[in-house]
Amino acid sequence: MNRPPRSLTIYIGIFGRTNVGKSTLVNYISGQDTSIVSKVAGTTTDAVYKIMELLPIGPVTLVDTAGLDDSSILSKERIDRTNKVFTLTDVAVIVTEPNVWTQYEKNIVLELTRRKTPFIVFVNNYKDEQLSDSFVESIKEYKVQHSKLLNEQSYREAFLNEFKRNLLDIIPEETLNLQPLTDNVIKTHQTAILVVPIDLGAPKGRLILPQVQMIREALDISAMVYIVKDTELQRCLDSLKNKPDIVICDSQVVKKVVDIIPKDVLFTTFSIIFTSNRADFKIMLKGIEALKNLKKDDRILIAEACSHHASKDDIGRIKIPKWLSSHLGFDVKYDVCAGMDYPKDIKKYSLIIHCGGCMINKKQMISRLNYAIENNVPITNYGMVISFINNTLDRVIEPFIKAEKTGN
Ligand code: SF4
Repeated sequence: MNRPPRSLTIYIGIFGRTNVGKSTLVNYISGQDTSIVSKVAGTTTDAVYKIMELLPIGPVTLVDTAGLDDSSILSKERIDRTNKVFTLTDVAVIVTEPNVWTQYEKNIVLELTRRKTPFIVFVNNYKDEQLSDSFVESIKEYKVQHSKLLNEQSYREAFLNEFKRNLLDIIPEETLNLQPLTDNVIKTHQTAILVVPIDLGAPKGRLILPQVQMIREALDISAMVYIVKDTELQRCLDSLKNKPDIVICDSQVVKKVVDIIPKDVLFTTFSIIFTSNRADFKIMLKGIEALKNLKKDDRILIAEACSHHASKDDIGRIKIPKWLSSHLGFDVKYDVCAGMDYPKDIKKYSLIIHCGGCMINKKQMISRLNYAIENNVPITNYGMVISFINNTLDRVIEPFIKAEKTGN
């Protein structure tokens, strides 16, 4: 089966105290021994991610977390990792045992509620205990599923049907059906040119996710898409009988291509499209203001949502710092974080410059954005910074400003 990228799946975070049956539940849902199940408390040392198709919900990532009450030597690290799972969970399952609803479970509810994450409570009812009145009272306002995890096929099917129904009842529509990248950018039957530079920073033998996703979604709406390297853009434009409706390029070649594109053709970048699709466009745009107030030796966080070996052309580590120094006329200091790593202490930064975030889900991107806002740290993204430095920001944000004005 062709696996969907994790960032396009719905993340189902499974939370609960150690040894309450979280891993058993994940294995039961997936039908595989994804998570190690043991009677020894704290067996799940790190979050375990399992991608599966859970129809009719669609592709999901089940995340089995370590219990936050883990008291083993490695517990702090495990707890930190479990805490990170809160940032990306679209919908949660709190696993508990009959008649157990303590401050521990209440804290999970508080954390999920703070993050506006919907959840169900799963009572792992394996011993058929009588439920106490106080327990029933404590969880009565939540969606609750009581089940035993029995192995008979018909029982498992009934369990899964109920489980999916419960989730479908609480998953917000915008999580269930992600907004297409083409929204506000390419309309049905329009023509788009995608400009994809193939330099040392390009992954070998493949296109990156935003490019692939854009091509697929453009096909879905019967648009015509031409894909060219920056060096072939002029030739492509010359060969078309009619001008394209939009040109979308990789941020790194904005400067090279902007003058080739006719002024009456819309122009933007993959990075800015992702920002508009995944985060709050206006907050990222506001972050650009911080660039104007930077001082020598200020510290900037370059945040990348995936890990890769940095080439000598690396956009976040090499090119942006170089272009920024030359634009500012002085040097600032940089820290880089990649993948799931994200610093807790962000107050020391004068600005966060985030990548497009194609490898993380919308929830995690929004969590990062909110964390920056809570800590009063401006945040923007690669595409906006590069376009600002190259005096093309107004032009590349035009499709979104226009869409906002016209309401489509
Ligand atoms: S650095 Fe960011 S935008 Fe680029 S591929 Fe990784 S996650 Fe996607």
